[in-house]
Amino acid sequence: MKRGSFQQMKALNKSIILTKILEDGPISRAQIAKETKLTPPTVGSLVKELIEQKMVIESSQGESKGGRKPTMLVINEKGHYMIGIDAGSRNIEGILTDLSGKIVTHVKNKLTLPITEDQFLSVLIDTINTILENSSDYKNDIVGIGIAMHGVVDAESGKSLFAPNLNLRQMPIAETLSEHFPYLIKVENDARALALAEKWFGQGKSSERLVVVNIGTGVGSGVTIGGELYHGESHIAGEIGHMTIDLDGEQCTCGNKGCLQTFISGPAIAKRAINQINLGEQTSLAEVDEVTALKVFEAAEAGDLVAKEILHQTGTYIGVGLINLIHTLNPSQIVLTGGVTNAKDYLLPNIEAAINERALTRKAKQTIISVSELGEHSTALGAVALIIGELFATNGTLS
Ligand SMILES: [Zn+2]
Repeated sequence: MKRGSFQQMKALNKSIILTKILEDGPISRAQIAKETKLTPPTVGSLVKELIEQKMVIESSQGESKGGRKPTMLVINEKGHYMIGIDAGSRNIEGILTDLSGKIVTHVKNKLTLPITEDQFLSVLIDTINTILENSSDYKNDIVGIGIAMHGVVDAESGKSLFAPNLNLRQMPIAETLSEHFPYLIKVENDARALALAEKWFGQGKSSERLVVVNIGTGVGSGVTIGGELYHGESHIAGEIGHMTIDLDGEQCTCGNKGCLQTFISGPAIAKRAINQINLGEQTSLAEVDEVTALKVFEAAEAGDLVAKEILHQTGTYIGVGLINLIHTLNPSQIVLTGGVTNAKDYLLPNIEAAINERALTRKAKQTIISVSELGEHSTALGAVALIIGELFATNGTLS
């Protein structure tokens, strides 16, 4: 056997063992050998390497069927640390976490608009520097920095091609950061990062075909197939916010008319509420200074019927968007996230009804729809997951 192919075989076997421990740990060496059909000596020597690389650790003793109790193996959650950055349109938030996603440091910096490329990059660098200053105990175990950036991102080159809310184009984020920090740097679109967050830490762990739909000020989605993100030919796969729902509909921020985003985003909900007020409908929202989607949700919670109806209607629109997605991609699971999903109790029944009514097959109706439970740091966790994915893909050889 040639040396190259021996190395490849070893890497493949190591990856099989690491995945086994990740998915089924705590697990003994003997059980790994049995289930992967690798020989016990192969398992033994590769596990030894994984322990040295701080990817795997021996945990408590397992059950024995007579004789010595086997030592169980689990992922070494405290072996490596990652920085995750959520570069939004108003703030840059950063976290440092271990492999389980446990946050040990959190930093938030405001962006002042309008902003130049240099100003934006300098806030980004400051945020990372503050995290590093606050994390001196973990400094030697940090392996990478993930950036989740709104807008269109070229993940391969680590460039932000277009950040609409900042009005910046062609920003070389990975290139700039690698001049300042000696770590692996990965940049990804925020909706795709959210999909990875669900895949590693949330509800999508066992999902082979997962779509995460983010519904907030804008609407986007991230698609993972077999655990891998799907980018499409030129980085725009998943832009479901801009699927046309009404040819003659309202103007969207993208320039087209009647996009899904003009029906289901936070601003769209606020706009429908204002229309109802202007029509003279009896609603407590008429007394509110500035009507926002949050105010509509609060009014619904307080029993306002007009507010409730607006949210129910929003649920129907989301359901229509999701059935288009189901018929195009046929995912096993869709996780909804973003500010608008706070109103899930009003949205979900109508989402399900719209899907039931329109689905082409019984299986399509059964697509699992749920709302994310990852909380406010979900995008930054997705940025962390970018690095974790790379760490596992390379069997822990990043650092
Ligand atoms: Zn649009």
